[in-house]
Amino acid sequence: MSSPIIAVRDVVRSYGRGANRFDALKGVSLEILEGESVAIIGKSGSGKSTLMHLLALMDEPTSGEIDLGGTDTRTLGGRRLNRTRNKTFGFVFQQFFLTPNISVLENVILPLKIAGVPSRERKRLGMAALKQLELDDKAKNKAVNLSGGQKQRTVIARALVNDPRIIFADEPTGNLDTATGAVVEDILFGLNREHGITLIVVTHDEDLAARCDRRIHIRDGHIVEDERTEVAA
Ligand code: ADP
Ligand code: MG
Repeated sequence: MSSPIIAVRDVVRSYGRGANRFDALKGVSLEILEGESVAIIGKSGSGKSTLMHLLALMDEPTSGEIDLGGTDTRTLGGRRLNRTRNKTFGFVFQQFFLTPNISVLENVILPLKIAGVPSRERKRLGMAALKQLELDDKAKNKAVNLSGGQKQRTVIARALVNDPRIIFADEPTGNLDTATGAVVEDILFGLNREHGITLIVVTHDEDLAARCDRRIHIRDGHIVEDERTEVAA
């Protein structure tokens, strides 16, 4: 573990205006170190997704600053922002569904298509990611025909295909049974440990949170606790 990959300073995110204004984040500061696994936890409506969207550069703070790898992200306009996001991040989000009627491989290589990677290279990288998730035999299947666990593994393969430095996951085990959820969890922590990918995960799952190096508790738009797992001597 080393320098901060993400630094957040005094971030406020307000929705609405005037009398309808609501501050979903009320001044949040934190640093995330390269290679860490971090759980963001808190009640529904506390601001977890808002924070995750800001960290993932899918949304901008109303005020405050977010640095990524030492760069003030306010200086990244349109195309550079998209390129940075596409190159640096992998997403395991429930709202980023698979496209049901195209193949598993087509779903996985979508980020590479967006990045303009040539077709043969896309296929090679896509198959490598599927192999890592033990899904290479399903490459030609339509996504719609997969089980829940296979779908989530496909989403992880898609998150991996760009060789990201950070994986963002929003309730990655939320829709899975316990056994399948445990498999998905093991895969995410394996990527974190073996490939040094920083893992940032929003979860209600206490076991998943407990496995992370660190738990950031959010309440009413504030960080109320930032707790690290004690490393055994
Ligand atoms: P969590 O992910 O912890 O459940 P969110 O970050 O989604 O919480 O939401 C935090 C608060 O901000 C909630 O009160 C929610 O209603 C509000 N909120 C979220 N998105 C919007 C929006 N687009 N417009 C207005 N209010 C929003
Ligand atoms: Mg949420």
